[in-house]
Amino acid sequence: MITDSEWQALKTNDAAYDNLFRYAVKTTKIFCRPSCPSRIPKRENVEIYYDLNEPEKRGFRPCKRCQPTGKIVNDELWVEEIEAILRQNYQMNLSLKELAFLAHGSESYLRHVFKKITGQTPQQRLQAIRMAHARRELLNTRKTITVIAKDIGLPNVSYFIKKFKAYYGQTPKRFRQQNE
Ligand SMILES: [Zn+2]
Repeated sequence: MITDSEWQALKTNDAAYDNLFRYAVKTTKIFCRPSCPSRIPKRENVEIYYDLNEPEKRGFRPCKRCQPTGKIVNDELWVEEIEAILRQNYQMNLSLKELAFLAHGSESYLRHVFKKITGQTPQQRLQAIRMAHARRELLNTRKTITVIAKDIGLPNVSYFIKKFKAYYGQTPKRFRQQNE
């Protein structure tokens, strides 16, 4: 739970609260100082920790921008955070802008760092995650192509079929038939 004064501190990026608590965002598993200039998350997704070391112990990762542990968040760690966000949110219509918001960085910087470390753009990585899920669903479920397309965040079926074919060299239907 977050009190109104804590919520206010967070909304106004009030550095006076930086020694008092950290806030963690359940949906992204990232935690911040109250003064962090990143876009404000939904209130219901926020958890407050008065022990400044506790978020890390609970598996949250430090924000790249406000560096809430006082240590630099290096590029490798940040890419891990981005990867985790992609894996958790691939069903969403995840634009680079939205991803940058969730990962607490700027779009161009995020793209640059991700590409430097992984050799792929975030969009390529997202596509790979989606295609791997589609492949698994085609093999292991009886879901229709339409449902699978929606499941992986590409509700436009013909677009999904086109992408799948580009990725695996055959249409989803053909792929399923061949592997039955
Ligand atoms: Zn932050």
